[in-house]
This record gives sequence, C-alpha cells and structure tokens, in this order.
Amino acid sequence: MEPQDNFAYLLPFIFVTFGMVFIAVARVGDRSASAWGLGYIAAASGFAAPLLLGFLPVQAQAILSNACFLTAFYFYGDALLLRFCRPRLRKSRMTLWAAGMALIIYAVLVANSLRGELFVGDLFCLLLLALPLAKVLRHLHRAIDIALFGIVGLVFLETLVRLVVMTAMTSDGADLGFERFLASDYAFVMQVGASLIGFLMALTALAACVLDVIGGHRDAAHRDPLTNALNRRGFERAVADLKDGGERGVVICSDVDHFKRVNDDYGHAAGDLVITRLVDLLRRQLPDGALVARFGGEEFVVFLPGMSLTEGGVLADVICQAFAGGRWETTGIRRPITASFGVSAVSRDDRSVHEAIRRADACLYAAKEAGRNRVVIEGRGRTERSTALHAISAA
Ligand code: GH3
Ligand code: MG
Ligand code: MG
Repeated sequence: MEPQDNFAYLLPFIFVTFGMVFIAVARVGDRSASAWGLGYIAAASGFAAPLLLGFLPVQAQAILSNACFLTAFYFYGDALLLRFCRPRLRKSRMTLWAAGMALIIYAVLVANSLRGELFVGDLFCLLLLALPLAKVLRHLHRAIDIALFGIVGLVFLETLVRLVVMTAMTSDGADLGFERFLASDYAFVMQVGASLIGFLMALTALAACVLDVIGGHRDAAHRDPLTNALNRRGFERAVADLKDGGERGVVICSDVDHFKRVNDDYGHAAGDLVITRLVDLLRRQLPDGALVARFGGEEFVVFLPGMSLTEGGVLADVICQAFAGGRWETTGIRRPITASFGVSAVSRDDRSVHEAIRRADACLYAAKEAGRNRVVIEGRGRTERSTALHAISAA
C-alpha cells in the first residue's frame, strides 16, 4: 500500500472524529461548535467520497466530493461568524456556494477539465473563508481569538498557495500534465500540509469552544439571572480585577421603597419588572466602567471607579429622580415607585471597597429613615426629597 493510500483512509477518520467531538461540545452550549462539527464532518465526507462512492461514475464522485468541501468551508466560515457574534451573511455565502457548485459542474460535465474543477473548487473555498475572516478581523480581543483567526488565516493562505502553485505548474493547460502533477510527491506533501493545518485548526477551534463554555459558566456564576447584573461573587471578582488604584471611587447603595407592597398588590412578576427597570436605568445613566451588582432582592450596589463623592452624589440624584418619574401605567402598577440611595467614597484609610459599602449602606438607611425617595451622601447630612415625586404627587 502506498503512503498516499494510508493517508486517504486515515484523513476521513480523523476529521469525522473531530466532527463528533465538536457536536458533543455543542451539546453543552457552545454556539459555534455545531458549525465546526458540521464543517469537519463535511470535509471528512469529501475525503471519503472517492473511497466510498467507487460504484458511481467518476464525474458524480468529483461533483459530490467538491460539494462536501465547499460545504465544509461554508461551515468553517459560519463557525467563525458565530464565535465572534458577527452577522451570518447567509445569503451571500450560500450564493457563493451555489456559484462555485455551478462552475464545478460545468468543469466536470461540460469542459471535462480536472484542472478547471480543482481551480474552481479551491477558489470558492477561499472566497467562502475570506468573507468571514474580513468580518471578524476587528473583533480579536483575547489570545485565543488571535490564535483562532491565525489558524483559519493559515488555512486560507495554504489554499491560496496551492491554487497559485497549481496554476503556475500546469500553465500549459494540458490535463495530462496536470494529472502527473497530482500524482507527484509535491502534490502529496501539499496534501499532508493541508491536513496538518486542518488538524491544528480543529485543535485551536476546540480550545476556543471549551474556553467559551468555561467562560460562559463562570460568567453565569457571577451574574444574577433576572437582571444580568453582577451578583456578590461577581462584584468581588470585578473589584479584585480592577488595576492598581482602581479601588478609589464612589459606592452607591440603592433599595426600592416599599417594595413588598408592589409584590403584595400587583404580584411577584410586577415586582420583577420594577427590579429590571431599575437596572436598565442604572445601565443607561452610569458611565462605562461602572460595576452594577444585585446584592439582594431589590438592593443594588454600584461602584464607580475614579469618581469623586460630589460627582457620585449628583449621579445618584439624577437616577433617583429619573426612577421616581418613571411611568408604570402600561405595566398595571398604579402608584409611583421610588428608591432610596446612599453614597460614599472609598477613602485612603479604607482597607477595601467593603468599608465604603458599609458606609453607603448606613447612608441608605438614613435615607429610608428620613422618608425615602432621596439621596443621602456620606458626611453631608443633607437629605432632600426627589423633586420628581413632588411632581407626581402634585399631578
Ligand atoms: P423599604 O422601603 O424599607 O425598603 O421597604 P420594602 O418593602 O422594600 O422592604 P424590603 O426592602 O425589606 O423588601 C424586600 C422584599 O423584596 C421582600 C421580598 O419579598 C422581595 N423580593 C426579594 N427578591 C425578590 C425578587 O427577585 N423578585 C420580587 N418580585 N421580589 C423579591
Ligand atoms: Mg426596599
Ligand atoms: Mg430591600
């Protein structure tokens, strides 16, 4: 048996194994793993076609194996776009696939040119990968993103080099010479190289999928499912992740006023809606880099790195007024909803942000005691009712 023959049997086996592993990873929740899986199974089918479809006319075998390879590249592109949350461009890529197939069918059945068939096959595989690579290029943030882009880029380059070398070495256009080229050691080495890169791409994509699944679970463990705000554990982690000096800043504690009554009078779902609206408002009003954490039922802690106490107080007041001015008619809640706020700054003497949280919580308690719907700022002793409630009460 020639080494080429061993290789021909081994390749579909390896690729289909990767395909199955990806499908298994997809079952634990990775978005791109099923696309990688379909891509590798399609590529395995392309390699296996000449071995399994010997009973079919040679032209049918050629068309089917090309269809498998174009499908594989379609799904590799799909996997990249899914992984980086980019638009899927399904129409454009399906049109490319269909155009490639039409030209391959023409090369096989009408022009009867092996050279033309392989040229078109490689060219359209390139195009199917070029589009997704271009779309994800500006979204590479982590090392694994760069590694994945790099290895898919290598598959692209390898296909391009093969296309150029093939075209140059068979430029007389004679298919007889071309078949000799295909049987040459050089063509075999290129096939081995392509398979190794395909193998590396599978390992890199697998690493990316597994890291994404782990990251997703870690993120879920750090976030509150109702609001997607950080939970206590996520807050601790996010504060610890702040760079040196990042612990300086302002803490705002907030709690919805008479929230039990909302639950009692309008139901738990209405209560949940109040909670999510408060978080939406916080997200809209707070600057980038602010940490928003749900510490309890309707209690939130916000940390604003680098902000001064005065700035934090002004911001808390804006949020207090905006929340009190919210309109609830469409939700079935027929009374104004307000919240109270306590603001404190992390001082030089504080050993951690938690000391400021304790003071902000004491301010929040003071705001409740003073009549709710207001902001109490540490050390300022001044409490004012939100003007928005006056407006509502007067209406
Ligand atoms: P105060 O103005 O003093 O804050 O009064 P309050 O009624 O808001 O009192 P408190 O803050 O103690 O109320 C907490 C309530 O939040 C009790 C609990 O039933 C409710 N709660 C806790 N978690 C959730 C949740 O996820 N959804 C809903 N709808 N209610 C929750
Ligand atoms: Mg409350
Ligand atoms: Mg509470």
